[in-house]
Amino acid sequence: MSWEVVIGLEVHCQINTKTKAFCGCSTAFGAEPNTQTCPVCLGMPGQLPVLNTLAVDKTILTGLAINAEINLESKFDRKNYFYPDLPKGYQISQFTIPLVEHGHMDITTKDRGDRRIGITRIHMEEDAGKSMHEGLEAVSHIDLNRSGIPLMEIVSEPDMRTADEAIAYLKNLHQLIRFLGVSGADMEKGQFRCDANVSVRRPGEELGTRTEMKNMNSFRFIKQAIDYEVMRQIEVIEDGGEVVQESRLWDSVKSESRSMRSKEEANDYRYFPEPDLPPLRVSQLEVDNIKAGMPELPHQLRARFEAEFGLSAYDADVLTQTRNLSDWYEALVAAHPADPKRCANWMANELLGRLKELNKNIEDSPVSPNQFGELMDRMGDNTISGKIAKDVLDAMLESGKSADAIIDEKGLKQVSDTGAIDVMILEIMAANQGQVDAYRGGKDKLFGFFVGQVMKASKGKANPGMVNQRLKELLNG
Ligand code: ADP
Ligand code: MG
Ligand code: ZN
Repeated sequence: MSWEVVIGLEVHCQINTKTKAFCGCSTAFGAEPNTQTCPVCLGMPGQLPVLNTLAVDKTILTGLAINAEINLESKFDRKNYFYPDLPKGYQISQFTIPLVEHGHMDITTKDRGDRRIGITRIHMEEDAGKSMHEGLEAVSHIDLNRSGIPLMEIVSEPDMRTADEAIAYLKNLHQLIRFLGVSGADMEKGQFRCDANVSVRRPGEELGTRTEMKNMNSFRFIKQAIDYEVMRQIEVIEDGGEVVQESRLWDSVKSESRSMRSKEEANDYRYFPEPDLPPLRVSQLEVDNIKAGMPELPHQLRARFEAEFGLSAYDADVLTQTRNLSDWYEALVAAHPADPKRCANWMANELLGRLKELNKNIEDSPVSPNQFGELMDRMGDNTISGKIAKDVLDAMLESGKSADAIIDEKGLKQVSDTGAIDVMILEIMAANQGQVDAYRGGKDKLFGFFVGQVMKASKGKANPGMVNQRLKELLNG
C-alpha cells in the first residue's frame, strides 16, 4: 500500500521597515555587531515597546494579497523561552488573535496541476539576535543587531502532498512578497526562512505524527530535507516503529537531518498577553486604503502579458519572475512595439541565458532595452537572420556597442539579392552533381543538405527564406 505525504510550512519573513518593530534602531543588514541596539531591543528591564505601524501596514497588505481576513482587533502575546540570542527572555508575538487569518494562495505545480493552498494565519513578531561561532574557540559571541527586527510568520495549512508542491508554494510566496515590496526576502541574508512540517499516512487515514525541520533558507535544501524526512519516516513505520514528534535540523553538508529536541523536551512557552502593548486596533478605512494601494500582483501581470502581448504561458511566467524583469520587458516593447512576441522569446531564451552565464541580473544587463529592441528590429526588417542575430547579441554584450554598429563593422547584412543567391546555389549544385541527381530522383531529404551548403557558403548571411525559395525553383527546374 502506498503512503501519502503531508506538508505544512511556516515562513518567517523580515518586514523591510527602516526601524525595528518596537524601537527606533536601524534594521540595515551587515553593520558591525551590536551597533544597532538600544535598551528596548537589548531587553533592559523597564523599557517600553512602541509598535512600528508601517510593519503593521505591510502585514495587512500581505494578508490582502493572499485573500485573507484582517482582524481589526488583534493582540500581542509574550512567548517565553530562554536562549542566548533572546535578551528579554521572551519574544513579543501574536498567539491567540493574529492580525491576518484564513487566506489562501493558488499555485500551479508540475506534478499536481492547479492547487489552492490554505494559509492559516499571518502573525507579527520580532526577530531574535544571532549567535556567532565561526572562527571562535570555546566561546560564542552574540550580535543583537537583528534583535527586534519585525517579522511576519506565514503559517500554511497542511495542504501540500509532495516536496515539489511545497517548493512551488514557497516560490510563489517569495515572489509575491517581493512584488508587494514588504520584504527584501533575500534568503541568503535570512530575510525569508522556512520551517517544514512533514508527516506520512495511509491515504484516507487521520494525519500522522509530524516532525518539523527548522530554519532553512534555500529552496534546494528544503526540498532535500523534505525528501529525506519522508523516506526516514516511512522506514521507521515500516520497521514497526513510531515517528516521534520532534524538531529536527537539516545538515546540508551531510545531507541528513538530526533531532534537535523531542516533544517531551519541548519548550513550554507559557504564552500570556503582552502587558506593555495595548490591543492592536485598525479601522476598516485603513484596511481599505491599503487595499487601494495594492500593486499589480504576479498572476495579474502574467495574465496581462498573455492577453496584451500574446505571449505563451511559459514566456509570461519567465518575464514576470521579478518586477525588474517585467519592467525591462515593458520598456523594451514600449520602445520597439513591432513584435512583442519575438521580443519576449528572445529576452527569455537568448538574453537571460547569456546573462546567467555572465552571472548578471537583468538590472545589470550591459545591453539596454532600447539596444536590445534595435536588434529585434533588424531581424524584423530582414537586415539579419536569427542565426546572425545571436552572434550580434554576443558581440553587443561583450562590447556594449549597438546592433547596427556591429552589423556594419562585421559586414553581417543579410544577402537578399536573388542574383547573388542564385550564383551560390548554382555553384553548389555544380559541385554536388551526385546529390542533385539523387534529389531529382526522389530523395527529398537532401533538400536540407543544399540549404546547409548555401548558408555555409554565405557565412550565414543569405536570407533563409529566399534560399529556400530559389533552391526549390533551381533544383526542380
Ligand atoms: P507549531 O507552532 O508548534 O509548529 P502549529 O499548530 O502552528 O504548530 O503548526 C505548524 C505547522 O504544522 C502548520 O503549517 C501546519 O499546517 C503543520 N502541520 C500540522 N499538523 C501537521 C501534520 N500532521 N503533518 C504535516 N504538517 C502539519
Ligand atoms: Mg512550528
Ligand atoms: Zn533598539
